[in-house]
Amino acid sequence: MVNTIIVGGGITGLQLGALLANDGEKVLVLEKSPRLGGRAVVINKNDFLVDYGIHLIRFGPESSISHTCRQLGHEIEYAPLGTSWVLDEDGKIKVFPTGKKAFLTSRFFTTREKIKAAQLIGKIRRGAFSEELKEKSVKQWLDENNVKGGLRRYFHLVSASMMVCPFIERASVGEMFANMQKVLQSGISVMYPRGGWQPLIELFKNKIEEQGEVRLKSTVTRLNTEGNKVTGVYVEDEFIPGEKVVLSMPSFELPSYLPDRVPNEYVEKCKHNNPTAGIVLDYGLKEKISDLDGLCYMYEPKSFGMFTSNIDPSLAPEGKQLLTWLQPVDNKKVKEKQWAKKQHQYLENKLFNFFPRLENAIEWQRTLYLPVVDGTEVNVNQIKEKRPSAEVPGVDNLFLVGDSISAPGAGGDVGHEAVHVTHETIKKSQ
Ligand SMILES: Cc1cc2nc3c(=O)[nH]c(=O)nc-3n(C[C@H](O)[C@H](O)[C@H](O)COP(=O)(O)OP(=O)(O)OC[C@H]3O[C@@H](n4cnc5c(N)ncnc54)[C@H](O)[C@@H]3O)c2cc1C
Repeated sequence: MVNTIIVGGGITGLQLGALLANDGEKVLVLEKSPRLGGRAVVINKNDFLVDYGIHLIRFGPESSISHTCRQLGHEIEYAPLGTSWVLDEDGKIKVFPTGKKAFLTSRFFTTREKIKAAQLIGKIRRGAFSEELKEKSVKQWLDENNVKGGLRRYFHLVSASMMVCPFIERASVGEMFANMQKVLQSGISVMYPRGGWQPLIELFKNKIEEQGEVRLKSTVTRLNTEGNKVTGVYVEDEFIPGEKVVLSMPSFELPSYLPDRVPNEYVEKCKHNNPTAGIVLDYGLKEKISDLDGLCYMYEPKSFGMFTSNIDPSLAPEGKQLLTWLQPVDNKKVKEKQWAKKQHQYLENKLFNFFPRLENAIEWQRTLYLPVVDGTEVNVNQIKEKRPSAEVPGVDNLFLVGDSISAPGAGGDVGHEAVHVTHETIKKSQ
């Protein structure tokens, strides 16, 4: 008898499976595609190791995923990022302030703005903001506090990158400050796992397989319940019994699996949880065109990326270079092919301005128009408290994990945090 069936072999399902296996459970992961990793999948393209768009780990060694690995007896080795840069609205390339020193020296702010920035950043670091800000938008807060010029552009870019939400009229300022506070207190913004994400996927898979199993090309079509209890799943016509079931996928995909007993309010919450979306451009370059080893931002269109192979050279063949870029966009607009194509062209032209040697150095290029980047956009209607809980009400032994449930953080970090929220919830329920 399997103790826990996990539906979905993405990075959060695998992490949770590994933690449960570490507790002594027999875990079965069922993944519908022929590969593990979900949205954190890694491919080999012409000997480049390519993530599914930009993939960094917030807070590095202080992150939830590092915490997961430590519980499994593994320490993630990180490659730190260098100075961040921004192509500002005036067309000039400037240092994008992340640390204290850059705040004082960057040309991004005027002297007056630097003083205001220092005060605000101090307040955010101390957490001197009320809970009510969670339901206030970034724009509303900027307007009320008369934040203009460089400082306004700075918070707009923080919303676009940290929250993957350039739509400041709906991004939650309270959630943004909570994330900024963690960065300011830990002194770590983002880091890259040396060797990429594939070794992490392997680590979790191997742990699960010590006593359990990971099955690919296995689509779960429905759950089985008896009374108020889930008792297993169906893969096509095969019934697989399990003591517990965890659904690990974005919440808007969940309603079709949820049994009728689940209260409507919860089902609606899952259904209407909107994800972030984006246009992803990855470039394999036949030569090195830049030494920048930090995050690079563009003010227009609001977007960011990095030369991943400058941070971890093992990702590109010797003498070549890997560049990845993400423009967060509206999740409804990205499905309109013509609109997405036009945005893509606009973004690419701006990138060619930012990096004048890029156009002639391209060996291959991948473009993705993604309606789902992160499972939830952390906006005022989708703050942590409003998202679906890890425990599914109305059905015993049924749980959720993933980057759209009620867990702290923003972007992909919600998913890594959710692993621990769901793990604790499962332990408490036993
Ligand atoms: C471009 C981009 C950039 C990102 N940047 C970052 C970043 O910098 N840092 C970060 O931490 N995160 C980042 N993320 C987010 C991160 O990738 C996700 O949070 C994470 O991969 C979600 O993992 P998951 O396992 O919850 O879901 P998924 O990856 O969506 O996995 C769900 C899995 O379930 C499978 N599945 C679905 N239905 C069934 C079924 N019926 N039966 C069996 N299997 C099923 C799917 O095939 C899939 O493999 C980024 C994402 C994108 C797209």
